[in-house]
Amino acid sequence: MSGLTVQLTAPNGHTWSQPTGLFINNQWVKSSNGEKIASINPSTAKEITSVYAASEQDVDTAVKAARAALNNPDWRELPASERGRLMTRLSQLIDENKKTLATIETIDNGKPYLVSLNDDLTEASETIRYYAGFADKVFGQVIETTPDKFGYTLREPVGVCGQIIPWNFPLAMAAWKLGPALACGNTVVLKPAEQTPLSILFLANLIVEAGFPPGVVNIVNGHGSIAGAALASHMDVDKIAFTGSTATAKHIMKMASSNLKNITLETGGKSPLIVFNDADLEQAVEWAHIGIMYNQGQICTATSRILVQDEIYDKFIAAFKAQVKNVSKVGDPFEESTFQGPQVTQAQYDRIMSYVNVGQSEKATLAYGGKPFKVADGKGFFVEPTVFTDVTSKMRIYQEEVFGPFVVIARFKNEEDAITMANDSTYGLGSALFTTNLTRAHRVAKRIEAGMVWVNSSNDSDWRIPFGGVKQSGIGRELGEAGLAAYSNVKAVHVNMKSKL
Ligand code: NAP
Ligand code: MG
Repeated sequence: MSGLTVQLTAPNGHTWSQPTGLFINNQWVKSSNGEKIASINPSTAKEITSVYAASEQDVDTAVKAARAALNNPDWRELPASERGRLMTRLSQLIDENKKTLATIETIDNGKPYLVSLNDDLTEASETIRYYAGFADKVFGQVIETTPDKFGYTLREPVGVCGQIIPWNFPLAMAAWKLGPALACGNTVVLKPAEQTPLSILFLANLIVEAGFPPGVVNIVNGHGSIAGAALASHMDVDKIAFTGSTATAKHIMKMASSNLKNITLETGGKSPLIVFNDADLEQAVEWAHIGIMYNQGQICTATSRILVQDEIYDKFIAAFKAQVKNVSKVGDPFEESTFQGPQVTQAQYDRIMSYVNVGQSEKATLAYGGKPFKVADGKGFFVEPTVFTDVTSKMRIYQEEVFGPFVVIARFKNEEDAITMANDSTYGLGSALFTTNLTRAHRVAKRIEAGMVWVNSSNDSDWRIPFGGVKQSGIGRELGEAGLAAYSNVKAVHVNMKSKL
């Protein structure tokens, strides 16, 4: 349809055709009420372009398309190996278009271009490729009971899956959800975050090019409170998978109860990173820096609470501040030397600045940063990387998720103290510990209340390893073989061989 693509050029000179419609049944359409949302470049605060925003009616159209695709023999009866082949093709197309996709990710989200290219795009294409391999390896079991009877299980798709994704890793989060859903034979209605719809819309054209039948994947940009809510409460959606804030997740859980949807939720965190006296200090400092400052600190698993044992506390802080100063170069995300681009939105920028005030009013020590950072005309959402020390567990900056390059550092006396402080949180997503004592590493890993523990690293997640949280950090697992459980139902077939009544 004409009028649903615009030609765009990024500051790096890269030009591409950007779809701006809703993607339903492998076609681009306008929203039923003509509404649009502007996508903003966070480096300049200027509009890049605007895309159509789905109404409740548009979500319903997309769900109907997904339902029809689920029942269409072109998808339902497609041999699983063929399904895998389509997914492999999609991952190849992502690779072939990675410079365009990385450019879009950077202009829309603000993350450094080299991070988009090397990390996000690798993550997206490898995740799809990994799950492509599973497409023909999701099968059931034969269960022997007595000579009179046996049972077997079938692994069936859950059905029409609603997927609501955040803005911090738009393509990668889409891949985490599409990979297992498609491998298991589901159909999907995906809602990108309103802040970052552009890369996912470009991906939609690759889904058609890969050969997926119409309606298997539908993409409905839109506002969370309208399109997201319509998807979460829809009576003909079988499952909802969500990544975002804990507050929104609670709301989604309520809406999903309308028809008792299957849910997986991946929400927030305030993940601890523990540094014991015997740690390799240099390595602890480098990983701790990456663990909170990477991706502008906008990571659900960011190790945003650093706990350091008494004897090395002062030494660690000095080295950590030096690391921030040397590595966290803030600036234009298209500059090769930039480590930290702008925050994604004015709202996130404001949130971080407000937590600087909270930290100061709580009498923690502002040891580094804490101010806006001026780049070019000063309109972009840049902040200084920020470090608070002398933080205690009662403080709000210790308990609440900030979601920015903002870290708090606290001290502990002994191992028991460290575990208590690490677990003093409503969250339980990631965690990290640094020690050279092997038995301590495993002992502490076992006692931390978290879905993931990194031993002597932080935030080096991997699509082959399960990802998810406990407590208020979520329900269910993504990635790895465990991620398939979220997208397949086990059907039991009982076979009576002999028993007559
Ligand atoms: P959010 O509200 O949780 O947004 C995440 C997704 O949920 C977006 O696609 C959003 O759509 C959608 N959504 C919002 N309200 C909804 C509703 N009522 N029904 C259905 N879907 C809805 O997060 P945010 O406002 O962008 O960010 C706020 C905070 O969330 C951050 O400061 C951070 O603490 C946390 N966060 C966590 C992650 C993570 O990876 N766990 C990612 C992002 C944010 P729209 O964007 O279109 O409204
Ligand atoms: Mg944007």
